[in-house]
Amino acid sequence: MSIKKVAIIGSGTMGRGIAYAAAISGLSVNLQDINEPSLEDAKAYHKKEFDRAVKKEILTREEANRSFEAINYTTDMKESVKDRDLVIEAVLEIMELKASIFKQLDELTPEHAILATNTSTMSPTEIAAQTNRPDKCIALHFFNPVPRMKLIEVICGLETSEQTIEKAFEFGESIGKECVKINEFPGFAVSRMNCLIGNEAMNMVMEGVGSPEDIDKAMKLGLNHPMGPLELADLVGLDTRLRNMQYLYETLGEKYRPCPILTKYVKAGHLGKKTGKGFYTYS
Ligand code: NAD
Repeated sequence: MSIKKVAIIGSGTMGRGIAYAAAISGLSVNLQDINEPSLEDAKAYHKKEFDRAVKKEILTREEANRSFEAINYTTDMKESVKDRDLVIEAVLEIMELKASIFKQLDELTPEHAILATNTSTMSPTEIAAQTNRPDKCIALHFFNPVPRMKLIEVICGLETSEQTIEKAFEFGESIGKECVKINEFPGFAVSRMNCLIGNEAMNMVMEGVGSPEDIDKAMKLGLNHPMGPLELADLVGLDTRLRNMQYLYETLGEKYRPCPILTKYVKAGHLGKKTGKGFYTYS
């Protein structure tokens, strides 16, 4: 049975992007969040993205309207997951929170449903252990901004079945993404490398090696990175990046110690693009 109905838990930066990618590919999407304003922001974001797709002639107006209508915004977790083939959790990078959501999902979803986490760094095995279906649990690591980023890292936990991996790949392809299979280890492949590069760039700002602009420019023009590491950290959200670094520091050791500037910015509420201030200022 192919995946036609999905629910996404958490309508923040990633959840809303995943919802858009699924809806534009003809899937039915329930987007759930405990925070009503986040759902309203997600709806406004979708409206803008669908308008953009029409302007760029990626979709006709009718297709855009149909996809937009395929997304149902709700605060009701039970209703949002009860008939779904796949649920993707995209809440904050906090293990206790993810664990409690998976416990609920195990009770509320149909038996056949696959439960996926969009964690950037954490153990899908540990999250799956909260359920009675660890064989149907997996991590689907999407990238930001989801509508434009091609990759999904498919991370298999200890008990993830071959059938679940196959279905995850089919789902990824059905929404126009390319998948790579990664065996579980903290930070998987991309976050493990990317967090280290970003943290080193922050250390270099702290040491006065260069300005954020010049460090980013050096990486873009010198190594052909499409974005500089500091611009990217601002886009990810500095709070999310700090949680990623803290987890990698705990699991992989000293070289992942979060840069003190990152901690300071988060304490000040400078979370990057989403709050208008991070390594750069946004109007
Ligand atoms: P975010 O802070 O933008 O959004 C998190 C959302 O979860 C918020 O809307 C919040 O209201 C909601 N939420 C909190 N508790 C909830 C609950 N109990 N039930 C339902 N919703 C709840 O975070 P994000 O950047 O979208 O990150 C989400 C996940 O995706 C994290 O695990 C993160 O590590 C991962 N991730 C982030 C990026 C990125 O670039 N931001 C990239 C890949 C993966």
